Amino acid sequence: MPLQGSCACKTVTYEVDELAGGISHCHCVTCRKTHAAAFNSAAGVQPDAFRWLSGEDQLSHFESSPGKIRYFCSQCGSHLLAKKEGRPLWVLRVATLDDDPQIRPEQHIWTSHDVPWLAADVPVFAEWQSNRS
Ligand SMILES: [Zn+2]
Ligand SMILES: [Zn+2]
Repeated sequence: MPLQGSCACKTVTYEVDELAGGISHCHCVTCRKTHAAAFNSAAGVQPDAFRWLSGEDQLSHFESSPGKIRYFCSQCGSHLLAKKEGRPLWVLRVATLDDDPQIRPEQHIWTSHDVPWLAADVPVFAEWQSNRS
């Protein structure tokens, strides 16, 4: 069964037969900015294992560094995939998966770009914090 994925507004949907590489949490400043998050979770996929199911014509993209193209939904802004010229694998934004890929993240990378005001050593709550008013 292929894994199903989608953007936040469900305009763009895709399926992928399997992840080709392990999941990494990338903390680089470009991921922080483009995903508006402390880090981006990514894994390689083989191009011939990946298929857009809907909304491919609604994708927008930009070149974040020479030859690196990041694709995102033009309606809701979810980042879904990146391609780098000369690299055999595409890079899937695995947080957009709707199915569990049955593997777990292997590593955090580029933490040298972390900013102190996003340091994550803080209390954890399953839902809202207990003292929320
Ligand atoms: Zn969308
Ligand atoms: Zn990154």
